[in-house]
Amino acid sequence: MQVIHAKQALTTNGWQSDLEVTIGADGRIEHVGPVSQQPTHRTALLLPAPLNLHSHAFQRAMAGLTEAKSPDPRDSFWSWRRLMYTFLNQLTPDDVEAIAGLVFMEMLEAGYGAVAEFHYLHHDVSGVPYASLAEMSERIVAASGQAGIGLTLLPVLYQFGGCDLRALNGGQRRFGNDPEQFLRLHAGAAAAIAGGPADNAIGMAPHSLRAVDPAGLSAILSQAPSGPIHMHLAEQVAEVDEVQAHLGARPTDWLLANHPVDARWCLIHCTQMTEAETIALAQTGAVAGLCPITESSLGDGIFNGTSYLGGGGMIGFGSDSNIHIALFDELKTLEYSQRLRDRSRAALAKSDRSTGRVLYDAATKGGAQAGGRDSGRIAAGALADLVGLDDDNEWLCNRKGDAMLDSLIFGGRGQGCIRDVWSAGRHVVAEGRHFRREAIIERYKKTMNRLETDF
Ligand code: ZN
Repeated sequence: MQVIHAKQALTTNGWQSDLEVTIGADGRIEHVGPVSQQPTHRTALLLPAPLNLHSHAFQRAMAGLTEAKSPDPRDSFWSWRRLMYTFLNQLTPDDVEAIAGLVFMEMLEAGYGAVAEFHYLHHDVSGVPYASLAEMSERIVAASGQAGIGLTLLPVLYQFGGCDLRALNGGQRRFGNDPEQFLRLHAGAAAAIAGGPADNAIGMAPHSLRAVDPAGLSAILSQAPSGPIHMHLAEQVAEVDEVQAHLGARPTDWLLANHPVDARWCLIHCTQMTEAETIALAQTGAVAGLCPITESSLGDGIFNGTSYLGGGGMIGFGSDSNIHIALFDELKTLEYSQRLRDRSRAALAKSDRSTGRVLYDAATKGGAQAGGRDSGRIAAGALADLVGLDDDNEWLCNRKGDAMLDSLIFGGRGQGCIRDVWSAGRHVVAEGRHFRREAIIERYKKTMNRLETDF
């Protein structure tokens, strides 16, 4: 049994001092209460570690490769996407496993306790399935096992190159399945998950209303009676226009009119919603999956956080393209986007909770719901996804409670204060370093040295 003593901890009963948290052999929090026995670990600040609700692991290897001016005079999301297709066209299953291993390690070191991997790279470079249809899913599961991160695997259905149902071409062919083949792939992925740690889970991800047609969407949802459902929604203006032209409604309006969206759903981005769509989505109980650093990187636009949270909506955070894996910076970027748009301050704060507290509570609660993971809180019975931070530094000196969180998120030094991370009780980060750091980095570098990165 592990026994953690924390000077301060953020629990389901609010901030507590001199707290003891015990973790059982099943990876769950056994007991939360006053200090009563010798600790195995001590920490200044103990927080629930959020689930990172949206990741495409392989894109991490492209960070910094798409910042030059392209021949396209108007660099945009769509020119970035063409480069992404070129890059992924060279990746083998070994490469994907090596890159995902690094990404999952970095997530843990950034304070995430688990990840929902939105996994769409399924086939070989010519679009032909591997001997095992779920080969790439198996590699993601293997990488998560190496890193010790809790995984919610979201195999992605990707059928078409656009709403006009054009065939996939180029790099997109690696993503493609019809619903029937997808369901077989999904069964293979589910078997891989079942062979891993008990806290792992599986969901389903129709890619977007651009890449999946209404019949395909209905076909796979009818075979998924439980588990999380994730979909990209309303990220780009051109996407909204395309969906409007072909389906007769804006993406969020169309989805809400055609499917019973509820707490099983996580809609990624939602940066292009009208005020009415924002309030309507907020009322469904679904999570809006926000990726503010990637949305900034790709010029997606600004999520309407003030209206959505004001309407009672749930949000969570993901690192998406993984260009910069930094939990505290994701939260800060969302808040700053609201301030810049509205020329305001403390845009998402409530009368009883500071901005940082609102954001962190949302990240833990929304992340757990979106990942279908029984975590995100320091309370007996929950999975022990925890992060321990050091306050013995000039940035957190004499900070308490919400002000401590605000300093971590807005002071810019939060990530450097992370000392310990547990994922379902697995103590994977100690002294700020992942337990397999050297081996994972060495393998990743070997892969990167072989790949073409000049394009
Ligand atoms: Zn995405």
